[in-house]
Amino acid sequence: MIWSTYILVIILGLIIGSFLNVLILRYHTGRSLGGRSGCLTCGQALCWFELIPVLSFICLKGHCRTCRTKISWQYPLVELLTAGLFVFSAQHFFPSWSTVVFSWLIISLLIVITVYDLRHKVIPDSLVYSFNSLALIWAIFLGDSLFVALLAGLIFFSAFWALWYFSHGTWMGFGDTKLVLGFGFLLGLSAGFSALLWAFVLGAIVGLLLLASSKLKKLPKNWPRFNLKTEVPFAPFLVIGLLLVWLANLNLLNVFLF
Ligand SMILES: [Zn+2]
Repeated sequence: MIWSTYILVIILGLIIGSFLNVLILRYHTGRSLGGRSGCLTCGQALCWFELIPVLSFICLKGHCRTCRTKISWQYPLVELLTAGLFVFSAQHFFPSWSTVVFSWLIISLLIVITVYDLRHKVIPDSLVYSFNSLALIWAIFLGDSLFVALLAGLIFFSAFWALWYFSHGTWMGFGDTKLVLGFGFLLGLSAGFSALLWAFVLGAIVGLLLLASSKLKKLPKNWPRFNLKTEVPFAPFLVIGLLLVWLANLNLLNVFLF
């Protein structure tokens, strides 16, 4: 890709990321997607320059222009993350732009699922089913073998279902169980398994770090205390695992086997 293409992809990623923020917020509050965004505290409608991704956050130093309430870091982070992943997948699937655009659709959905699970510790069914449907379309038109994709989805779903069922939902949520069906569709057996392995490895590392952090005497203000019963959302780890394998070809199985 030439440099001007990169710039266009980054700008598009920032704009879509900004839209995803609105989607996450309004999905939860049930507000419609139409109408102007406003400050969550004072309700002041945002003017045109406050709608510019990332830059407005920096210019306003993270505070509302009217009531000075802090604006969540989630907004610029989601915008930057979307732009970064858009560039990654454009590089990965270039020059097939139809594949690139389709992967952007899936990435956007995965970002919404991740942030939603982090904020609310639940993944809405409609988001999971949308992801699974897109993954199935991917398997039909872009995958190596539809049979392997379907088989992989079924195996992953069954394994997670067993974890969910026998732990009475304490080790695994049912949302995660439904989500990994699409992992099989999208990645197949070997790469899909690798993505799940990444999720468990990263989840274990972060879990141990969080446990260790709760033993510290001095903790940052508002730092949540963790213990073994604390519910840690798992979808973010699943999504990171999927992206590592899908966009960066970091297949953990190959690392262990060769
Ligand atoms: Zn305000």
